[in-house]
Amino acid sequence: MVDEIAKAQTAIPEEVTLFDKIVAKKIPANIIYEDDLALAFRDINPVTPTHFLVIPKDRKGLSQLSKATPEHAQLLGHLLITAAKVAAQEGLDNGFRTVINDGKDAGQTVYHLHIHVIGGKQLSWPPG
Ligand code: C5P
Repeated sequence: MVDEIAKAQTAIPEEVTLFDKIVAKKIPANIIYEDDLALAFRDINPVTPTHFLVIPKDRKGLSQLSKATPEHAQLLGHLLITAAKVAAQEGLDNGFRTVINDGKDAGQTVYHLHIHVIGGKQLSWPPG
């Protein structure tokens, strides 16, 4: 986790992101859901028993949530609905949490918008 925060200090937006490479199947990932617009895969470094990411296949300039415009509304809605659908598929019937890290202070390390879905245990609040 400390590593992630350190990584976030130097992470920069890229033309082709790590997640673009996962979408293109050039980098392996444990994919658990895919449709025309979205991909969900297990986080390589899970922080809870269930931890997956939902990403847009084509991020349409959405390196991070703060870049969102009204043109992204439909895509963002689809990603949230997908997060809930895959959470149900994963059996997170007692609840789950969605997180979107935006920028350095939030610890964002990959500049390709993604929704973390975490669950599978009682989560505490507030986060650090
Ligand atoms: O919100 P943030 O940008 O920090 O999240 C990026 C996430 O992508 C991290 O949780 C990291 O473990 C995950 N990751 C992954 N597979 C990779 C590289 C990073 O699941 N190949």
